[in-house]
Amino acid sequence: MYSAVSSIVKSLSECYHSFALCESCFWCASYFLKTCTDNENVVCPLCNKLVTFIPLEKNERYLINIEPKSGLELEFSKLK
Ligand SMILES: [Zn+2]
Repeated sequence: MYSAVSSIVKSLSECYHSFALCESCFWCASYFLKTCTDNENVVCPLCNKLVTFIPLEKNERYLINIEPKSGLELEFSKLK
C-alpha cells in the first residue's frame, strides 16, 4: 500500500500542475498534466464550457475563499 501511494506521489511530482477554473460557473480544481500543453479543450464537468488554466510552479500553492459579499477570492503564494 505504501509503495503504491509513494509511486502516485512521485508520478504527480513529475507532472505540471495548474489551477483550473471555469469562468462561467466558478468550478475549480487542481489539474495535473503530463506536458504543459495537455490542457487544451478541457471542458468544465458542470457546465461544459472551456476551462481556463493558471500554471503553477512546483513550490506554489493557492487558497480559495468565497464570501457572499465579496465573491471569489484567490490567493497564490510560494511554499516555505
Ligand atoms: Zn462550469
